[in-house]
Amino acid sequence: MTPLKKTRKYRAAVSIISRLAEAGYEALFAGGAVRDMIMERTDDGDIDIATSARPEAVSRLFSHTIPVGAQFGVIIVVMDGVPFEVASFRSDSGIHDGRHPADIVYTNARNDALRRDFTINGLFFNPQTEEVIDYVGGKSDINLKTVRAIGEPSLRFREDYLRMIRAIRFAARFDFTIETTTWNAIRLLADNITTISVERIFTELDKMLCSTHPDRALDLLDRSGLLAIVLPEIAGLKGVHQPPQFHPEGDVFEHTKKALSLLDMHPSSTLAWSVLLHDIGKPQTMRVADRIRFDNHDQVGMQKARAVLKRFHASNALIEGVTACIANHMNFMQVKKMRLGTLKKFLSRPTIETEMELHRIDCLASHGNCENIDFLKEKSRRFQSETLKPPPLLGGKDLVELGFRPGPLFGEILSVLYDMQLEEEIATREEAIMAVQKRYGSRK
Ligand code: ATP
Ligand code: MG
Repeated sequence: MTPLKKTRKYRAAVSIISRLAEAGYEALFAGGAVRDMIMERTDDGDIDIATSARPEAVSRLFSHTIPVGAQFGVIIVVMDGVPFEVASFRSDSGIHDGRHPADIVYTNARNDALRRDFTINGLFFNPQTEEVIDYVGGKSDINLKTVRAIGEPSLRFREDYLRMIRAIRFAARFDFTIETTTWNAIRLLADNITTISVERIFTELDKMLCSTHPDRALDLLDRSGLLAIVLPEIAGLKGVHQPPQFHPEGDVFEHTKKALSLLDMHPSSTLAWSVLLHDIGKPQTMRVADRIRFDNHDQVGMQKARAVLKRFHASNALIEGVTACIANHMNFMQVKKMRLGTLKKFLSRPTIETEMELHRIDCLASHGNCENIDFLKEKSRRFQSETLKPPPLLGGKDLVELGFRPGPLFGEILSVLYDMQLEEEIATREEAIMAVQKRYGSRK
């Protein structure tokens, strides 16, 4: 059916299925992997396994297992070095908000399909017979390119409101339509998303941004009413006008959407969130002078982005990466005017690759002029042969030898010398010594 079959992961998954089947249990591929196989998507997703075996039985059958979610009926089985989620057929009952596990009841494959969120996610596949097992009409909805809740949409969303965001995530990623009743239920119930934990919401938003068609995801979030609740800062970009000579694409919201559409496949989370949040400082800083201006929107935006990501309990690494990208995104306008030393420092920062990509996308989503990027690429090619951060020509010991005493002046001299070195005003030890003596006098 697909190249997935040729992978080591597939073979390892099949050997788990075989062992469970030999022990007399029903065992099937479930959920996303089946959907992706039928759609012939090459995305490298997980292969989840569903089985009639209970967690205790799964643990007994395999030598390397991790009981991460045994209380939810899920065991990780590591096979040939690949971890797989092996879940016992179950039906959830009750509401789950991410804080309190819903009660689970062990059941058969059919009921396990019925507890899943959307028909396209409710399929099973038996790799031994190559048969797709479809209790929910998932195959036909894949053909119809439709995201449809399994069962009565509003009931299913009331059980777990996160599913509203998930519907949008799958619709955007596959460019599917959300079936009308399912869509109306989302619009009606959107306000209830506040009952879901920020961590679960963040995980879905992050996957959405790093997948295909994140611009469509933003549009659907907006039209469903969810955006105004989970990311009011982004909803607030609508109607914020920009100077048309630089932004023929429209207001800040349209610009952000266009920028998201320009992300390459599988961007890093840092890049994806930077693109989403890069202009959130604009509404607050907008003023009309000779033209519409947004002075300091990079710094205000950085603060706001930090607050947004903290609200979602995002990792410090993501927060630091995104805030650096946003704080620096306007500096790219100055690169041609930078002194050599400043430019080298600018290019040697750890986030520069992501920042360059953000700037490229920012330009292409507006005026289309990428000459600063071309300039930087050319410069970094040139600098690569040299070292961007060369070892300093002189150190503290040299200053002592020149007769200076360790103290505050020491640091200043070393930093001035290093800047001169980066500026290529001095290139040798001798020139450095002469420069010290000229500026600070000889101490010998
Ligand atoms: P992806 O490739 O994005 O991981 P996926 O379909 O594997 O897609 P997961 O979030 O990994 O999505 O979930 C695995 C499966 O578990 C889904 O296909 C679906 O059947 C079921 N599922 C996950 N979350 C929910 C939920 N909140 N409500 C009901 N079923 C869910
Ligand atoms: Mg998955």
